[in-house]
Amino acid sequence: MSAPNKSYDPVEVSALQPAELDKARDAAIAAIAAAADLDGLKAVRLAHAGDRSPLALANREIGALPPQAKAEAGKRVGAARGAVAQALKKRQAELEEERDQRVLVEETVDVTLPWDRAPRGARHPLTTLQERMADVFVAMGFEVAEGPEVEAGWFNFDALNFKPDHPARSMQDTFFVESEESDVVLRTHTSPVQIRSLLSRELPVYVVAPGRTFRTDELDATHAPVFHQLEGLAVDEGLTMADLRGAIDAFVTGMFGGGLKTRFRPSYFPFTEPSAEVDMQCFVCHGASAEPGGEPCRTCSSEGWIELGGCGMVNPRVLVACGIDTGRYSGWAFGLGVERTLMFRHGVEDMHDMVEGDVRFTLPFGMEI
Ligand SMILES: [Zn+2]
Repeated sequence: MSAPNKSYDPVEVSALQPAELDKARDAAIAAIAAAADLDGLKAVRLAHAGDRSPLALANREIGALPPQAKAEAGKRVGAARGAVAQALKKRQAELEEERDQRVLVEETVDVTLPWDRAPRGARHPLTTLQERMADVFVAMGFEVAEGPEVEAGWFNFDALNFKPDHPARSMQDTFFVESEESDVVLRTHTSPVQIRSLLSRELPVYVVAPGRTFRTDELDATHAPVFHQLEGLAVDEGLTMADLRGAIDAFVTGMFGGGLKTRFRPSYFPFTEPSAEVDMQCFVCHGASAEPGGEPCRTCSSEGWIELGGCGMVNPRVLVACGIDTGRYSGWAFGLGVERTLMFRHGVEDMHDMVEGDVRFTLPFGMEI
């Protein structure tokens, strides 16, 4: 700040000369107009209206003037500063408006774009159905058992009373993991879990074993090289075929509702004796399609009955292979096809749908629990 001016003429102070003030004001207004964005305007504000700007310095000089001169000088400086402040305010508003418009354009959300670019998957119906089938038996007190998918031939065949020359043991039916001599196979059924359960658990044993199985079938509408079974095994004192029948009836009621009959037809499996194929009455037509004059039924092909799977009393040779006293214990077992159940329960006509992994097939089944 300059020393008090004795001449009383503020014009003698160079910063307060009208030409200097006009120059500073015009320079400020030009810079303000030239500011391209808010950051630029901030720098302009600092340079032309900040504490060290020419107009602020001029303002400070007023304090050093004699009282008579202060009013006029203050008026001039005030007018210049007012004009700059006005210009700043106007430009600030313009630039804010510009920014808001730009943000609106840049951050626009196109609500017509597809929103679900990575659609959610769904649990495969074979998985949910397999769990549901097992749950019916779990409710009866069965435990869920598991076994390896790569299995030793002894568990898959020998212990289950398959003779060495049984055709299932050839490469025509069975996937061998290495050579045929290696006797290491992809399990052809879930029945080896029977053996593993009997060897690892205390008697009595009540287990169900859902799982993947493998056979050298070509994929077509009704076959697949990888498919699923639900194995069931009960070994206890005094078990009879009547208990097996009762368990199957309870399963049919649990899965398809009450009032459906079941029937056993004689059959043969190496690991059960006697053996049976088990059928249930069709849950759609309740057998009416097979009556004379009955409406045709797609679910059971108008047979009135639907094949569920195989079952029987555990062959004593199997129990002996597991070191069980056949004089004291007996048992029964069954095997149900999960794919087959999905096909007739939900009207799936082609096995390809189950293996192709198209979520449009799996989604409509929802989250059945
Ligand atoms: Zn039917």
